[in-house]
Amino acid sequence: MTGARFNLIDILDHLGQKHSATKDEIKFILGLSDPDEIQQLFKAARQVRGQHFGNQIFLYGFLYFSTHCQNNCNFCRYRRSNTRLVRYRKTKSQIIEAARDMADTGVHLIDLTMGEDPQLYLPGSFGRNAFQGLVNMVKAVQDETGCPVMISPGILPDEVLKDLADAGTTFYACYQETHNRDLYHNLRHGQGFEKRLEKKQLAKSLGMLIEEGIMTGVGESLDDLADSIIWMRDLSADQARVMTFVPQANTPMGNAASQDSLKERIIIAVMRLILKDCLIPASLDVDGLSGLKERLDAGANVVTSIVPPQKGLAGVANHSLDIEDAKRTLDHIIPILNSCGLFPASSEAYQSWINERQHLLKRSPVKRFEAKKEAMQC
Ligand code: SF4
Repeated sequence: MTGARFNLIDILDHLGQKHSATKDEIKFILGLSDPDEIQQLFKAARQVRGQHFGNQIFLYGFLYFSTHCQNNCNFCRYRRSNTRLVRYRKTKSQIIEAARDMADTGVHLIDLTMGEDPQLYLPGSFGRNAFQGLVNMVKAVQDETGCPVMISPGILPDEVLKDLADAGTTFYACYQETHNRDLYHNLRHGQGFEKRLEKKQLAKSLGMLIEEGIMTGVGESLDDLADSIIWMRDLSADQARVMTFVPQANTPMGNAASQDSLKERIIIAVMRLILKDCLIPASLDVDGLSGLKERLDAGANVVTSIVPPQKGLAGVANHSLDIEDAKRTLDHIIPILNSCGLFPASSEAYQSWINERQHLLKRSPVKRFEAKKEAMQC
């Protein structure tokens, strides 16, 4: 049942009319537990998605090209201290071949992801030259596929972000995972909270779109989740993702309790209602193909973690689920979209969305950046 202070119908109606919500209202809808009310929430989220995107869905190919990492995030199987892992680092030609294959199947964007690979992040050589191969590789993937590229490489030096922006990289993804500083330091052990935020703000000021991301099931409160959604709104995140934490063997959080997908889907719906025209992924990386429909039903409008089989590529949260049996491919995904009354967008429609977003960015990036910096200092 709804609490006494808020009326769910009024809030959903208000949000559906393009208005925003207070933090208390956001917390209220994040905390819904009545199944009928949750279905009302999902329905409202689908309506808002329809207002901004019609029945079109964007599709992202995922290419995790190096699983080496210098960091020790407590939730991640690819953390430095996990020595029981067979890691890989793909060559430029392997990356281009896999990207080309994905582009041929009809994905709209290639997501190039790596850990903070010590081969690039070498102590003493942390600078522009060490990353030139990365910048060249992004250019080559764009040229060979004709697709926009998202780069998810970790915390880069400022000048490398500038080189990537100059190379035409469309998206920079860098996930905070939480905006609660204490929880952040538990999750991303030894990494700067502000630094991570500032890199996204810098990328934005350089003309790149940004993806922010959070996890659920890591000990966060409703207050933390509401704060994260407000951060994403104030930072004008262009894409906002939430993923359920999947405990990983041989990590400090390996014995944590796992959480089902309901909270993730509620967060997707609330993000849709608050962030409205933002891209919101339904990731295949948590529950694979079997979890796609329910995430789309919650208001997601991008399918991410599409991975080609037989390339020796891994996912992140569920590193092998549905990959080698080719279920993370468009042949399996499109029938599920259709069953929801949804369809893959054309490449032109995706490019048009990017162009519009970049145009908006040119009009007011600095104001947002300064406003957020002030808030951070409070
Ligand atoms: S989450 Fe990213 S930065 Fe952290 S250990 Fe894993 S790969 Fe490295």
